[in-house]
Amino acid sequence: MSLQPKSGVEPREIVQVGHPVLRERALPVDAKLIGSSELDALIEEMIVTMREAPGVGLAAPQIGLPLQLAVVEDRQSTLDEAGEEHVAERERQAVPLTVLINPVIETSGKTIKSFYEGCLSVSGFAAVTPRKSNAKVVALNEKGQEIRLNWSGWSARILQHECDHLQGKLYIDTMDTRTFAMVEYLSGSADEE
Ligand code: ZN
Repeated sequence: MSLQPKSGVEPREIVQVGHPVLRERALPVDAKLIGSSELDALIEEMIVTMREAPGVGLAAPQIGLPLQLAVVEDRQSTLDEAGEEHVAERERQAVPLTVLINPVIETSGKTIKSFYEGCLSVSGFAAVTPRKSNAKVVALNEKGQEIRLNWSGWSARILQHECDHLQGKLYIDTMDTRTFAMVEYLSGSADEE
């Protein structure tokens, strides 16, 4: 499949906190399904849903499916809009559109970074959430090829956020609770994932 979705693909509804699927452990995607028209169509829908939201990541449980599948993308245009200072402070880099099937994550780094973080399934809110500064992920891509990512900074945060979704975890579990706020009260946007 091409990673650029066909036109006419409709975004799926993003389920919100309280929906039980967000608290389930997602099941592995059967490797036999990789490359099938059903899975390719689902991946396309996830990409369209993430972009329309807009968000920098989306995990299958967020559209109601307890599957170990996520998409991530942090576009250069989003970084340009956010501004140099925002980007530099967060060690944020453009992330190409990437499909993660059955990802296994390993975090490292002594540094814990704390920034406002949001989630498309906790829509309209954000909170300061500590994350490890580095994350390694081994996963399969949409073609069934093994990919190994070793990302730091904001990209590592995105990977941790999406892999948490596949374990039934949300950022609100580890956030600094006193910073939890509606995004309209925050200066500068908190990106949702
Ligand atoms: Zn999320």
